[in-house]
Amino acid sequence: MNLRGETAVVCGAGGFIGGHLVKSLVARGINVVRAVDIKPIEEWHQVTEGVNNVSLDLKDLANCRFATLGASRVYQLAADMGGMGFIESNRALCMLNVLINTHMLLAARENGVKRYFYSSSACVYASDKQIRTDVVALKESDAHPASPEPGYGWEKLFSEHMCRHFEEDYGLMCRVARYHNVYGPHGTWSGGREKAPAAICRKVIEAKVSGNHEIEIWGDGTQTRSFMHISDCIEGTHRIMESDVQVPLNLGSSELVSINQLVDMVEEIASIKLQRKYNLDAPKGVNGRNSDNSLILDSVGWAPSVRLRSGLDLTYQWIEQEIQAQSKRPRPLEASLCSV
Ligand code: NAD
Repeated sequence: MNLRGETAVVCGAGGFIGGHLVKSLVARGINVVRAVDIKPIEEWHQVTEGVNNVSLDLKDLANCRFATLGASRVYQLAADMGGMGFIESNRALCMLNVLINTHMLLAARENGVKRYFYSSSACVYASDKQIRTDVVALKESDAHPASPEPGYGWEKLFSEHMCRHFEEDYGLMCRVARYHNVYGPHGTWSGGREKAPAAICRKVIEAKVSGNHEIEIWGDGTQTRSFMHISDCIEGTHRIMESDVQVPLNLGSSELVSINQLVDMVEEIASIKLQRKYNLDAPKGVNGRNSDNSLILDSVGWAPSVRLRSGLDLTYQWIEQEIQAQSKRPRPLEASLCSV
């Protein structure tokens, strides 16, 4: 497909995946007419020069109308979200993402958008299919009968259905990816919204720096997951967007590891062994989750392939640099004294 002449809006452009996506669209020659996020631009994970970067709350219909003006395609990644620690204690807030998804679909239809990408999540999958740590990888059909993650997962599932009906009833071409745990440089690594790979890299680095060779692990460490490197996530997003597949597709790695194995890998990268303390009261999500990639392979002819160990190397190095840079920044009092 020739993408020259296409005009795109990226929502959630100040976030982890959105920031990488804007760069990749520009590199592919797509005119990104607007990159939008609710955060002030100085807080964005990445800012791409030459793009119209705008700070807007997309829960508001008028803002969605403005955001979609002149766009032939929308990439809708904006969501108030985070790792398990965040979504388990902010269920109402996560449900309110439905305002973003509803208003963006309405505005896209009104402004004649042709193609619409929606970033859904593996959290749509039924909880009874994720009870065992030696989980059978989840197929797209496992989302029904529905019993998704409370709050966040219900909203994602509802918004997937809304996309489907906007395509059926109004002809707005909607493409939906169910992302499974994405990690990599420029992701959130502290503050409470970070996910397991970044949190474990940070904790290992902090233990190394402080000399206190202990690590707290949420749950008993046997829970299993697959983790997708950001480069696979971006490649898969493009492939799904350009495809003619009208149903949601898994976009995730199929390399299943336990949290203990994830810690083993990060310890190996850091050349350290830590005393593990298991916090059984902390949020830990489902016992097992993996991505069945048969449908994406059949319909798109591609699936994520970056091995976790190699993707973690770069992520660990990036977080280490961020921690070093942060420790060199003046603290607020020092900063204000400097400016006197
Ligand atoms: P992120 O939190 O880094 O990015 C989301 C961005 O949306 C944030 O920058 C946030 O400020 C912005 N946002 C929130 N509310 C907004 C509003 N009202 N108006 C405008 N912008 C708003 O998250 P991410 O990891 O980049 O995830 C991107 C998308 O992918 C999200 O929809 C998320 O639910 C989905 N997803 C991510 C993962 C993952 O592992 N990262 C897994 C499954 C699904």
